[in-house]
Amino acid sequence: MIKDINLFYFYNSRGEPSIKTEILTENGIFSAMCGTGKSRGKWEKKTFNVKNSIENFLKIKKQFLGISEKDWKYFDSLLEKQKNIGAELTTPLSISCLRAATKNQIYNLFEKKSFNFPYPLSNVLGGGAHGGSTSIQEFLIIPSKAKSFPEAVSLVINVWKSVQKEFKKKGFIAGRNDEGAWLTRENELKTLDMLSKITEDFGCDIGLDFAATQFYKHGFYYYPFLGKKFNSEQQFDFVLNLIKTYKLKYVEDPFHENAFSSFSDLRKRVGICISGDDLYCTQPDRIKLGVAKSSTSGIIIKPDQAGTISKTLEAINIAKENNMDIIVSHRSGETCDYFISDFSLAVDAKFIKCGVGGGERIVKLNRLIELWYKLERPKMVKINYL
Ligand code: PEP
Ligand code: MG
Repeated sequence: MIKDINLFYFYNSRGEPSIKTEILTENGIFSAMCGTGKSRGKWEKKTFNVKNSIENFLKIKKQFLGISEKDWKYFDSLLEKQKNIGAELTTPLSISCLRAATKNQIYNLFEKKSFNFPYPLSNVLGGGAHGGSTSIQEFLIIPSKAKSFPEAVSLVINVWKSVQKEFKKKGFIAGRNDEGAWLTRENELKTLDMLSKITEDFGCDIGLDFAATQFYKHGFYYYPFLGKKFNSEQQFDFVLNLIKTYKLKYVEDPFHENAFSSFSDLRKRVGICISGDDLYCTQPDRIKLGVAKSSTSGIIIKPDQAGTISKTLEAINIAKENNMDIIVSHRSGETCDYFISDFSLAVDAKFIKCGVGGGERIVKLNRLIELWYKLERPKMVKINYL
């Protein structure tokens, strides 16, 4: 039974205000923190001023005391009714309650007999809203040949280190961004040329998160470092050409957040993972729109976009019923909580999207390495196009 709830005014990896929650039961203290985004989608659950969220919750805290942690769905339903509390508080509260219900074994939520480990999908170079020269936000590595999760992480880290070394030699690096990825000084094509040579050496594949809404203005997609602006058809051809030239295996948000039909057209042309992040914002109603148009084969799942784990699971269920690949993702502003690692196992995610640079990123991959050794019968998930 929930005896008390404590809230702490903390900070995330970007130095932004954030909240640590603690739920106290007779079994102990169950705490949580969650990340927050910079390239946020229009339909995400809103974040509030952290101080206001805390003050508003303290006024209604009593409603949540005395509930059994096993009734975590009811706990979430109460959270979802609150209009004056943002995702930065509802999400960690919901995670804390689920941690209490599962005694800190969220990966065991569905009591599976064996575990399929996701592939890391790790940002090694960045631009867009996270900084850097390219409009494309994230250049991602997929360690497709890895036979185990520890091997997968080792490959990604080696690529990340090689990128630093090789790009630095040419003066192409301007530092590290919010997600611990290197800030490229070059345009998208030169960046991809150099990156693909490195990934070839390590037998890894490349993915891209365009986060295209961020650079779509008045009907055009802007690429200042390429000296180009593309209308919708030209953007489509550009994306298709990059997929073919660099043998991309994963493409996220290549079009703006309402371009369901462009996503569908691209999906018909390629057999790789086309996924939606800003397109869906982990919102069941948005996913239904995408399903009706067969827009994507994959979906980014960010629990704080939904605001509770119950709503996140509702989104995942719709996606899975429609054969979408689940990609559980970090945010650019993160904390050292590894909830998404445990959760990715519980929901059989194909990928865990998470950088390798910085404690708040590597803690999530290290958690999965630990579980790889501790859980019985671990194996890498099967992905047809890898
Ligand atoms: C993303 O767009 O996939 C991402 C992780 O960025 P942010 O957290 O800034 O939305
Ligand atoms: Mg994204």
